[in-house]
Amino acid sequence: MKTRKINKLLVANRGEIALRVLRSAKEMGIQTVAVYSEADRHALHVRFADESICIGPPPSSESYLRGEKIIAAALQTGSDAIHPGYGFLSENEDFAQDVINAGLMFVGPPPEAIRIMGSKLAAKQAAAKFNVPLVPGTSEPISDIPQAKKLAKEIGYPVLIKASAGGGGKGMRIVNHDGEFEEQMERAVSEAISAFGDGSVFIEKYVTQPRHIEFQILGDQHGNMVHLFERECSIQRRHQKVVEEAPSSVLTPELRSKMGEAAVNAAKSCGYFNAGTVEFILDDKMNFYFLEMNTRLQVEHPVTEEITGLDLVNLQLRIAQGEPLPFRQSDLRINGHAIEVRVYAEDPTNNFLPDIGTLKTYRRPQGHGIRVDDGFEEGMAISFFYDPMIAKMICHATSREAAIEKTIRAINDYHITGVETTLGFCKFVMEHPAFRSGKFDTKFVEQHFKPELLKPLHESEDQDRVAAALAAYVFKDKQAVVPAGEPTQAVSRWKQNRLK
Ligand code: ADP
Ligand code: ADP
Ligand code: MG
Repeated sequence: MKTRKINKLLVANRGEIALRVLRSAKEMGIQTVAVYSEADRHALHVRFADESICIGPPPSSESYLRGEKIIAAALQTGSDAIHPGYGFLSENEDFAQDVINAGLMFVGPPPEAIRIMGSKLAAKQAAAKFNVPLVPGTSEPISDIPQAKKLAKEIGYPVLIKASAGGGGKGMRIVNHDGEFEEQMERAVSEAISAFGDGSVFIEKYVTQPRHIEFQILGDQHGNMVHLFERECSIQRRHQKVVEEAPSSVLTPELRSKMGEAAVNAAKSCGYFNAGTVEFILDDKMNFYFLEMNTRLQVEHPVTEEITGLDLVNLQLRIAQGEPLPFRQSDLRINGHAIEVRVYAEDPTNNFLPDIGTLKTYRRPQGHGIRVDDGFEEGMAISFFYDPMIAKMICHATSREAAIEKTIRAINDYHITGVETTLGFCKFVMEHPAFRSGKFDTKFVEQHFKPELLKPLHESEDQDRVAAALAAYVFKDKQAVVPAGEPTQAVSRWKQNRLK
């Protein structure tokens, strides 16, 4: 195939991932174009790009999800390629096809691969043909409840009812016994319809003590395909990752190469090229099963970049230009250990509910081996229109222990006020014996975490909070006498009526 150079790239995304992509493009001498919604007029990605175009009002359905407006912006600016980032249109095969039909390059896999992997059922059918191990379960959508219950019994409870079109942890229900089957099925179907417009669901055995292990794969348009090792993503809340690391502490070199080979086969089963992620679930006996493939750059890709020394966006762009992979599997090595913590504007003491507001204080940690990928500055607001992720902090060190210590130090040096964040929770994870020993699974939060166990991150800030709380308390009710030696009531009251 002929190579075609990208002279100008439009990034169809916002926030940290837009910046991440724009940076690599600039380093390659590529001209850059940002798109933005009216809510993002002053966002960092807009300021960073060479050119920018407003594509509509704040809701994503009127801006970042409007493929035709984005393609028009690319044509208007004379761009030759579109990078979709993650989320939004990144896994939309119609968008990818429209980009190609407009004569532009899509920085990602072929639309047909997105289509196959976008349906969990089609993905399982494709992967099975390439001998990739699957979680025991149904291979067709279920509609007949008595029949489904019979199957669930054969598979053995607990089972998971999953939306075929699912993503982001939505449309998934655990069924522990026969008696709750109907209820959970109804919930899964209605969640699937409202989130994905497709109510097809299927059953999978619920793997006990499951670890989420995924492999980064990379393929060019000449048939070469490699894996860039694994990422362990078992620390999750609501089936959503919050801490990721590479490599996993439980894989032996033999298991790593077996799973890596299965990942490459899963990618080959749908004619894949560019960067992608093959997700597996690993049980307590070290059996692994294919879960799904994410046909895009993953949120947690930086941990792979840190242990391999590679720039995945640079490689994505080179692959899109038609260049062959610059290395073979045998050239790749794991160097040290990397941990990513996702800093979300969420309240871990309140079920991790999003906590939007303005970043009153925002100071990043610094130092050797610390990387912060974010899209915010002090004074900026976390908008309720979009994902509440503030930043990803990635620490790289020579060993897992050293990476954990570095992460704790960096969390201590990260100062955010104005919104609640997951930082304190991530520190709790780093200090927990189960995490440190490597003996944990996706139930970590359920099994080990209680909001009462969270310690204040910064003593001085906490004292300020207590003082402010007491002042507010006294001010609010001048008659109130705060009992000496009993500040806890005032503090908890402050916690309830938190000032943003
Ligand atoms: P990762 O596996 O990269 O961590 P996530 O599941 O956290 O991916 O999703 C990454 C982004 O993509 C998030 O912003 C999430 O909301 C979005 N996303 C994932 N799946 C879908 C989907 N099917 N439809 C819409 N958005 C999705
Ligand atoms: P999504 O598209 O929402 O990311 P996945 O199929 O990747 O859906 O599953 C998300 C998470 O749910 C996994 O990381 C894992 O924690 C859990 N999970 C999924 N399937 C199973 C299963 N069969 N057994 C146990 N846990 C599962
Ligand atoms: Mg997944």
